[in-house]
Amino acid sequence: MKESILIKGVRFLDGRVSYVLTKNGAERKIEGEGWLAVPGFIDLHTHIREQGIGTETLQTATSAAKAGGFTTLCMMPNTVPPIDSVQRLRELKQKIIERALVSVLPIPSIAIGMGDSELADIEGFAKEGVFAISDDGHTIYNLSLLREACLEAKRLGLLVILHAEEDGKEPEAIEKRIELAYQTGVRLHIAHISTKDGVGLVREAKKSRIDVTCEATPHHFTLTENDIRDTNFKVNPRLKSYKDREAIREGLADGTIDIIATDHAPHTKEAKECGWNVAAPGMVGLETCLGLVWTELVHKGILREKEAIEKLVTNPAKMIGSKVDETNLILIDPEKEWIVNPLDFKSEGKNTPFSGRRLKGMVVYCCSIA
Ligand SMILES: [Zn+2]
Repeated sequence: MKESILIKGVRFLDGRVSYVLTKNGAERKIEGEGWLAVPGFIDLHTHIREQGIGTETLQTATSAAKAGGFTTLCMMPNTVPPIDSVQRLRELKQKIIERALVSVLPIPSIAIGMGDSELADIEGFAKEGVFAISDDGHTIYNLSLLREACLEAKRLGLLVILHAEEDGKEPEAIEKRIELAYQTGVRLHIAHISTKDGVGLVREAKKSRIDVTCEATPHHFTLTENDIRDTNFKVNPRLKSYKDREAIREGLADGTIDIIATDHAPHTKEAKECGWNVAAPGMVGLETCLGLVWTELVHKGILREKEAIEKLVTNPAKMIGSKVDETNLILIDPEKEWIVNPLDFKSEGKNTPFSGRRLKGMVVYCCSIA
């Protein structure tokens, strides 16, 4: 049996003003005056703990995704144990089928044990249908291993997503990795860019037609190091200066930064409520992303609505090699004001630096036909 949901009064970026969704169940009607209807967001960078590190499961992460308007999550490999073998990848895929409420695409580890010495079975991963491999969570310093990984990924048509930081230093690490992309011809994606110099390097690489893309997180385009109040602000890469934050906003506006990704990283209370040096780095992001994009970028005139949607849907869809799925529809109320309360989060992780912050722009409906 099919449910039809008639959504009246919503705007589409292509000019339509009403829409009928069909899904199993009963008939529903939604009045959506002033709302915006767009395809569900794709997060290219999510940490779903599922196994190990105490908090968050596929169920809670994908409920958080739906609340935040995401209908696809790309899952980073640094679980415990990590996704570093075909066997583990298969096990995870089975769990995803059983438990996930939205589409989840695993991104396996480049190296065995998330280490620095031995390449994982990248060809085996490719045969399992993954679109990318990554070192996020444990930066690979070993450039000859990275080079090997890039050549293998190039041969197999995979995207390589790199955490380009070495001892907290970003521009040098980005420079080395862009050089590898140039030498090997692989498609390279730089995760969570956070510095003015880093943005400049990617801008130059794109001008030289090197196949590189990059992402910025909502926390890096919103906060600076001056905002740091407690360990909920501890994140890798760390929050930087005002000048860096402005460069990220410019990079988003001029297209140097292709996508917005959350780097959603839930942690337990215990892992955060301790001294700065021992606190775990990372913050949750799925449920505040849209609010921050609209408050900080769209309402401030840095991105138009259409450009924001390109960075949340169209561009990440290109990277994962899929078409934008219009059956995964979400509704946004761009004028809705709300105050972030982590206790309302569907995520198990309550570790957000945005608690108490007033945002303008909210996801009001998410129809994921996963
Ligand atoms: Zn990450």
